[in-house]
Amino acid sequence: MGASLFDDASLRLERALKYVTLAEDTIEHLKYPKACLQVSIPVRMDNGALRIFQGYRVRYDDTRGPAKGGVRYHPGVSLDEVTSLAFWMTFKCAALDLPFGGGKGGITVDPKQLSKMELERLTRGYIDAIADFIGPDVDILAPDVYTNATIMGWMMDQYGIIQRRIVPAVVTGKPLALGGSVGRETATATGAFHTIETLMPKFDRRPEDTTVAIQGFGNAGAMLAELLFRAGYRVVAVSDSRGAIYAPGGLDVPSIRQHKAESRHMKAVYCKGTVCELVAANHITNEELLELEVDLLIPAALENQITAENAPRVRAKWIFEVANGPVTSAADGILNDRGVHVVPDILTNAGGVTVSYFEWVQNRSGLYWTIEEVEARLRDRMVRETNAIWEVAQREAIDLRTAAYVHALLRLSDAIQVKGTRDYYTQSLG
Ligand code: NAD
Repeated sequence: MGASLFDDASLRLERALKYVTLAEDTIEHLKYPKACLQVSIPVRMDNGALRIFQGYRVRYDDTRGPAKGGVRYHPGVSLDEVTSLAFWMTFKCAALDLPFGGGKGGITVDPKQLSKMELERLTRGYIDAIADFIGPDVDILAPDVYTNATIMGWMMDQYGIIQRRIVPAVVTGKPLALGGSVGRETATATGAFHTIETLMPKFDRRPEDTTVAIQGFGNAGAMLAELLFRAGYRVVAVSDSRGAIYAPGGLDVPSIRQHKAESRHMKAVYCKGTVCELVAANHITNEELLELEVDLLIPAALENQITAENAPRVRAKWIFEVANGPVTSAADGILNDRGVHVVPDILTNAGGVTVSYFEWVQNRSGLYWTIEEVEARLRDRMVRETNAIWEVAQREAIDLRTAAYVHALLRLSDAIQVKGTRDYYTQSLG
């Protein structure tokens, strides 16, 4: 794989291993994905032509429970990327104490180039190809970049057709009418909001004194922008794949969300006039957004956005990783040396998988919760685990990313070690 994303992800594990004493078996066990599946998916296109797409599903580890992780539709999807994302899911589920291992899936495709019917055929073809590899007690799917509730509904339906029974718990992030959970759409943003709100007072930071730039105005980024705006934070810049807008005095986030919904992209929001009248917004590039002088920088788009190249120019004081892997391990070192606090993806964006867990529990029990129950349980867990990770960081005098990995590793190693280690097998029964 060369110097791959997975090699980069593994460096985080190596760094955390310096601060915990684990049995050799645990370390060996966590170095490799448990199973990787690559499939070719034939799809009949609307014009009659046959196209073959490449799909993947990786189960990284399932010691603590069935694998859990999203499915990404993107032209950049590769086995390396899916393996890295499955690795992160393993640590994320352990960090939040969810009874799951880590998995991930993806299809190498630009979904915007497909018609809705082609997308449905591709999705059903993907499930046909991986059906033996997944299941509610084995490996549970969810949405990720460019997949949504409708696609999750097709996945559940296709799995049910193959199994000849209704199996809602094989997929989370489903539409409400098909067994989805209330609060799932907003869960990632809400979880990130609780992490921010738990950590900021530890630095004596108040919302009204705090400026925020957010890269990525999708499901997670736009909702988080709104939650922060409503709580009194000054959101000064937001972006999408086509560009960014910046207003030092603060953006009116609700009207940007409304304009984005109508015009589909940020550049149009900026050019439309009405938002420009509401806030004196400047049009900047995505690169410029990452280097703005703000308190909080929130990458909420794709991985590898802050690298060794641009990390020296990042002027934010805190980075909250809503995207998976937006800061490379080389950038971590540079940011640490410069006193920038990076709050890692495996904590910041874990609200999504936490409510996915709640959805799975509701599907299996057949009893559905109210939004108040979902939100209260999400808040409790995010606050509890954020505080626990903060305490590890203080105790060991380490950065929050390493602390989150240490916290997760201790849970993973408990589960791996009770199955028996070298010591267990070499000591006599006495
Ligand atoms: P999404 O598809 O809804 O939104 C992605 C946004 O990023 C879009 O606004 C897109 O225009 C923008 N974008 C793409 N490339 C960009 C670029 N180069 N610069 C700036 N913006 C760019 O996806 P999402 O569900 O919001 O997920 C975003 C990130 O959060 C991903 O890394 C995903 O893995 C992570 N995440 C999402 C969830 C969830 O529940 N949605 C959970 C955990 C993690």
